[in-house]
Amino acid sequence: MKPANDLVERKPEKLTRAGGWRLGTRDWLPPTPCTLHPVPYTLARPKRLLRNNLPVIILFLISVISSLGTFSSGITFSPLQIAWFIGYLAASTIFLVRIMSGRETKGLLNKAGPFIAVALQMNLFMQLTGGIDSYILPLYLLLVVITSTYCPTSINIALISFILLLEGINLAVSGNDVYYLKASVIAFLLISIPSAIKYYIESESKEKNTLKDRIYRIMGSRQAITQVPDLYKGSDVKNISKDSRDDQLDQIAGKFDEVIDNILSIISSAIIETNSSIILLYNKEEERLYLQGGITKSEKGLNYRIKIPEGEGIIGWVAKEKKLFNFANLDSSRERLYYNEHTRIRSLLAQPILDNDNLDGIICVDSLKEDAFTEKEENLLNLFAKEISYQLRNMRDKKVIHTRTHELTSILEISKALNTRLDLMHRLETMADKAKEILEYDYCFIVLIDEKETHGTIKVARGYNGTGLIDKRFKISDGLLNIILKNRHSLMLSNIERGKKSMEIFPKECNLSWKARSFLGIPMMIEERVIGIFILTSQKDNAFSGYDQYILSIICSHAAVSISDAYLHAQVEALATTDGLTGISNHRHFQERLSAEFERIARHPEPISLILIDLDHFKKINDNFGHPVGDIVLKKIANILLKMTRKIDTVARYGGEEFVLLLLNTDKKQAVNMAERIRKTVETERFEFDGKKIPVTLSLGMATTPMDTKNKKELIEFADKALYHSKHNGRNQAWHYSDIKEGPIIALDREDKV
Ligand code: GH3
Ligand code: MG
Ligand code: MG
Repeated sequence: MKPANDLVERKPEKLTRAGGWRLGTRDWLPPTPCTLHPVPYTLARPKRLLRNNLPVIILFLISVISSLGTFSSGITFSPLQIAWFIGYLAASTIFLVRIMSGRETKGLLNKAGPFIAVALQMNLFMQLTGGIDSYILPLYLLLVVITSTYCPTSINIALISFILLLEGINLAVSGNDVYYLKASVIAFLLISIPSAIKYYIESESKEKNTLKDRIYRIMGSRQAITQVPDLYKGSDVKNISKDSRDDQLDQIAGKFDEVIDNILSIISSAIIETNSSIILLYNKEEERLYLQGGITKSEKGLNYRIKIPEGEGIIGWVAKEKKLFNFANLDSSRERLYYNEHTRIRSLLAQPILDNDNLDGIICVDSLKEDAFTEKEENLLNLFAKEISYQLRNMRDKKVIHTRTHELTSILEISKALNTRLDLMHRLETMADKAKEILEYDYCFIVLIDEKETHGTIKVARGYNGTGLIDKRFKISDGLLNIILKNRHSLMLSNIERGKKSMEIFPKECNLSWKARSFLGIPMMIEERVIGIFILTSQKDNAFSGYDQYILSIICSHAAVSISDAYLHAQVEALATTDGLTGISNHRHFQERLSAEFERIARHPEPISLILIDLDHFKKINDNFGHPVGDIVLKKIANILLKMTRKIDTVARYGGEEFVLLLLNTDKKQAVNMAERIRKTVETERFEFDGKKIPVTLSLGMATTPMDTKNKKELIEFADKALYHSKHNGRNQAWHYSDIKEGPIIALDREDKV
């Protein structure tokens, strides 16, 4: 006797795909041995089953033995009763054995099955010991109540129908209507009342849970929506560094892992038959699947180091086919799948995780039982695959948004930092500093390109200790910078071949002694003009990534504008402080410098000397050779003065044909030497026009602070007085104020000085 609700045998060849895909042996050759025939029925894992079902087996045996005892005690039974006894025994034994073998246990029946088997035995025993008057009736009733509480409603309905049918037959055969009617009613109430109560409680709690879930979901969504990322929090340039990007990725990956874990635990609790539930993710570059997460009942566990190539084995084959497969009867004796040790997997349900038609991974459940998964599990897995795919897409979008947000805020930060001062050098140096926050480099150079794009001037050199590089101007005719100039595009090299001319960064004349393997050069452009090139190098191969190139290109295009602004400003400033004819400082700039130096020496005392210079009889030069020739003479003098002074000194045009030198850290003696050298140089220099010699000599006057005065105005006055003295003393001579103030100016003899 088989309970009416017993599961319909599913044919093992039913190798199906959700949505009606059906595989025949002919149109599909499995990648690995996978039998499509029913396996002979066996009692699998007898020891474990015996151990697990021990109480039921004992109960079963007790009832069998006591029934047999009743028989042997001499009470006579009709042949019908004996037939029933054998029928009961056979049915309940087969049922119990099948439950224990694990073939028929689906869902709740797994728990209720043993009770049904024992209840059948008890029922028989009760029949033999007096029916409803039997002394074991209370025990039997209790067992029936427990069974019907465990069983799903469908099984209970089947049980009631079955019992009513039995009692109906009894009624018809015996004619004892009151007895069997009574029995029928008792059986009906016994099963239906607990069923009804259970059904009511279940539907109540289901409704409650649905409500609870909805509330949680609403709360969760609300929280998610209100959590708007704070764009300004921690928005420094470091946010687009490699480390920070890795951190972000870790965070997102961690969240994804949580999602995967949740899904796995839901799957394993929803599909009881599973031995393992696993999620494999697909690596597109390697064309392999990695085990991302899993829950297993196997003691030896899952092999997390496994890499399954696409197309290899069952899993690889599913990855290639990109379809759901339900292997109902697998002979996995030759494949370890994703286990550490060989596990006898009989059923495997594999659902690819797809984003459009691209494989993201595979979600699998397997079972030690044959034909363990139905369309219900297929649909469930399909649903979870969609969920994972959705989550993956979500995470990817999130990562892109994260990165973009940080890029934007970081660029904003750099722009802000650049624009704090309208000073070209400050802006260039800020660029180099901020780049260091984003990526690792050994050297950073910023080269400004002149308007014709033929020459470059090195303005910043970070990481380089050599001298004389700053402000070095060089011709760009070949090498990497020329390639950037010609292509107007950034250039990234993972390994510069040294010694090749086309691979040079700076020409030989720059005399750079350094090591560079990786190179990244980015043009800074204003419309179509390259105003500068941003250069990074590293001693390592492959030091820069495509992302570095991308992000620096954006930064450079922003920086180009502010650098161009600063460059223009510097030019305007230079115009305002430079004398138009000679190119040296103008009077205003000299005054500013003098004030600044007086302030400085107030804090750090040092001698400063001033030399005022006036051309002798310049009017005559103008008159004799013309004004333009006079201009040329002025320019030449300015050049001589520039050449003869140090970088720290200031050479300025004081007025018409007068010049002034501001000599730092220069005492009287040094000043007098300098003045005399200048006088002699000009005296001996040949000035010619149309073959005629132009007589050019200078008169010079000096004063020194703090020796002569500590007052700025007086220092100029005294130098002027000394110059006046030179003029009146016969011109072409140099006088220091300290030498003239004592005696009468005119009386001084030139030969005594200097
Ligand atoms: P000395 O100083 O020796 O007493 O005689 P001087 O002829 O130089 O006298 P003075 O300083 O009075 O004359 C200055 C002349 O310089 C007057 C002016 O024509 C000329 N001068 C001033 N600025 C320029 C200039 O930019 N270009 C030219 N060519 N001449 C200039
Ligand atoms: Mg003059
Ligand atoms: Mg003069």
